[in-house]
Amino acid sequence: MSSQKIDIKSLEYEALEALLKDLGQPAFRCKQVFSWLHEKCVDSFEEMTNLSKDFRNELDEKCEIRGLTKRKVLTSEIDGTKKYLFELFDGNVIESVMMPYKHGNSVCVSSQVGCNMGCSFCASTIDGCVRDLTASEILSQVYEIQKDIGERVSNIVIMGMGEPLINYDNVVRFVRIISHENALHISQRNITISTCGIIPAIIKLSGERLKVTLALSLHAPNDRIRRKIMPVAKKYAIEDVLSACDTYFEETGRRVTFEYCLIDQVNDREEHAKELAGLLKGRNAHVNLIPVNPTPENNYGAAKEKDIMAFQKILEKEGITATRRREMGRDISGACGQLVRRKF
Ligand code: SAH
Repeated sequence: MSSQKIDIKSLEYEALEALLKDLGQPAFRCKQVFSWLHEKCVDSFEEMTNLSKDFRNELDEKCEIRGLTKRKVLTSEIDGTKKYLFELFDGNVIESVMMPYKHGNSVCVSSQVGCNMGCSFCASTIDGCVRDLTASEILSQVYEIQKDIGERVSNIVIMGMGEPLINYDNVVRFVRIISHENALHISQRNITISTCGIIPAIIKLSGERLKVTLALSLHAPNDRIRRKIMPVAKKYAIEDVLSACDTYFEETGRRVTFEYCLIDQVNDREEHAKELAGLLKGRNAHVNLIPVNPTPENNYGAAKEKDIMAFQKILEKEGITATRRREMGRDISGACGQLVRRKF
């Protein structure tokens, strides 16, 4: 596929409208083309059978429908979670995960090929970041998975490989397109963007008029510990990150989730729980506790069951809602922090 062609699947509704107008098409055409791309999720212009043959040919000359090739699928025997390996048009590979919950199917999408953030507990960062994904490549992960399982996807978490707020424009475009009424129409309330805490991008996101949930990867109750496990913490202090989260809540009315990955001895002691409670007190916060998952290159131990329970109790006693993330797909290395850009 030529990269000179317009990546039509990455265009938001209004941008597609402008393109089609330039091509001399009537206004109603946009709804048709947009729905073929994002509701019926076709892979070729040929399939857009309510458009004239000439117009389909013209689109084919000027535009590409950028998709992904499904290379491998692993299914968890424990919980039915599926991990997908997709190949991009340039030969790079990414992973995505589908989790079947009682309340609907949830897809975890990648936003970059690899990651540059360097968190010491996460496998996605091991080989660095090759490039950002386009909106079309993020969308295609959901479309391909929906086709594969033959069921509707109702929830999306942008928690796969990559730091979504580094790939800001494409991620926002992705959210706008997938939640559009002429597309899959997934409610923005069912979409979560997880970030390691890029302050300027959180502030910018607060002003986008989106209803998505923001999840902040906090993982430590103070800057000293956070800097040891997350290099991004050297750039942004916890207090400032939390105040950016306050802005997000004030502007959107959406409660922020704080992700806290529990690592044995490192951040899972009672004193850490108390310090975390102090940090979050008075904030409309929800803490999501995640026992650390093993990766090939860290030798962190998952927190022990009794420590996790004690940690959660302390938070709750201080009036902070804390839930434990259900671990899905561990047997297929599909759990948090286990996604890589190598072929499996
Ligand atoms: N870059 C984004 C999104 C990707 S990570 C972010 O930092 O939030 C998605 C979540 O999984 C984050 O909360 C991340 O910190 C967590 N995670 C990463 N490695 C993990 C591991 N080994 N065990 C458990 N959770 C992990």
